Amino acid sequence: MSPSASDVPSPPATEPIPAEVEALREHLAPIQDLRTAAQVLSWDQETYMPSGGAEARAHQLSTLQRLAHERFVADETGRLLSDAEAAADGLDPESDAASLVRVTRRDFDRERTVPSDLVARMSQAVSRAKEAWKSARADDDFDAFAPHLETIVELNVEKAEAIGYKEEAYDALLDEYEPGMTTAEVADTFDRLRKDLVPLVDAIADAPQIDDSVLQGSFPVEAQKAFGEDIIREIGYDFDRGRQDVSAHPFTTSFGVGDVRLTTRFDENHFGSSLYSTLHEAGHGMYEQGIDPDLERTPLAEGASLGIHESQSRFVENQIGRSRAFWERYAPMAREAFPDALADAGADDLYRAVNRVEPSLIRVEADEVTYNLHVMLRFELERGLVRGDVDVRELPDLWRDKMDTYLGVVPDTDANGVLQDVHWSLGAIGYFPTYALGTLMSAQIAEAMEADLGDLDARVSRGEFQPILDWLRTHIHRHGRKYTAPELLKRATGEAFSADAWLQSIREKYGALYDASLPQPGDAT
Ligand code: ZN
Repeated sequence: MSPSASDVPSPPATEPIPAEVEALREHLAPIQDLRTAAQVLSWDQETYMPSGGAEARAHQLSTLQRLAHERFVADETGRLLSDAEAAADGLDPESDAASLVRVTRRDFDRERTVPSDLVARMSQAVSRAKEAWKSARADDDFDAFAPHLETIVELNVEKAEAIGYKEEAYDALLDEYEPGMTTAEVADTFDRLRKDLVPLVDAIADAPQIDDSVLQGSFPVEAQKAFGEDIIREIGYDFDRGRQDVSAHPFTTSFGVGDVRLTTRFDENHFGSSLYSTLHEAGHGMYEQGIDPDLERTPLAEGASLGIHESQSRFVENQIGRSRAFWERYAPMAREAFPDALADAGADDLYRAVNRVEPSLIRVEADEVTYNLHVMLRFELERGLVRGDVDVRELPDLWRDKMDTYLGVVPDTDANGVLQDVHWSLGAIGYFPTYALGTLMSAQIAEAMEADLGDLDARVSRGEFQPILDWLRTHIHRHGRKYTAPELLKRATGEAFSADAWLQSIREKYGALYDASLPQPGDAT
């Protein structure tokens, strides 16, 4: 059993906020404003800005980001922080004031330890690597990108050394995206998961394939937009505090709890892709909309980690959106929205089609079962790069070998292999694991929620989403960054992070879908 809402201790009767903490908060607020203003500019760049605006926008963004960074790492922040720490000593560690001081200290120390010349070199390397990656991918020319990636790896190692770590340099990089999680924990989780997952994928591949032709056809964009928006509105995304626009790569961005924006993209000939990207981003958006307004304009007004953030998007996309109950609820609406293409589509047809499993080359197109294997491969390679066990030049071959071992498919080009993701060209090493961590957490969260609320499918099929949203608000959303991901997960679910809930749910669901007796844990070892 996980703690129910009533078991959560109520906050102590409003503790007075020490003046020193208030002073820190006032100092940080305009820094958050600068960061948020930069987000608005980025959102505009990805949605409405004409291409001619690129150069001016790059200047505007870098100015805002530089101002925010300089103000944050300034000696004055350090002084105010030390004073606030002294004043907050003895406060309830879960209070807003104590949390603000604790999290600001973590951010401040981290940002101060990276020398500004390293930040500048990284930013130059990234702007060159981004361009090089784009053309290398278009030309399928890994050698053209390799020297840039070598520089990115070197700079990341330098950054990790500056920040410091206990076990290995990758820890310091991972910590930026998933505070509280160590490389060893991720590696252990992935190792165990892989042992179960690879034979599972093999067994599914041997079973008769699901027919998903119902998803192909003509799906007018306007109808897709209305259909997706009606559903996420019912699930709990608040359009009075948000909106959805179109961008090449869907994302969510927050300008405050009162203005959280989603983007999606449409494919006229395919039904699922826009809907599931809309559901995914709505999960991110509902998280941001659910953060306690008292935390606004502080560093606490964000998700606890990328993994926790992804757990919210995956929860809506997979636990809700890919359930049979979801299609029991929405198949009639889908037939009405797309009377030509879906005239004969029943709930079961749609449920089966959106859960077709097929090992494929591209991570972002992967199904729920094979997705985590794509992430593991990237984690292993980038950890090897940081350790020095893997040389950048070896990556294309290692990529093909691992794809073959894990998924049984091998890319015939590097564009469809090692060059497919943008992350490394942006300097981000340590980011990939959070995708899989979030997916695993989403199942753990669903299990705990079900223990509290009873049968979730029954609620979903009746469109009763309010209790589900309330549970997420209470246990996850409202806390913002007050707790690290492992702490938050433990509080929300009563248990430490583990892949067990996810594996079990996958085995049950896909065992039934593929009518296959899927391998049980340990069979493969
Ligand atoms: Zn996401």
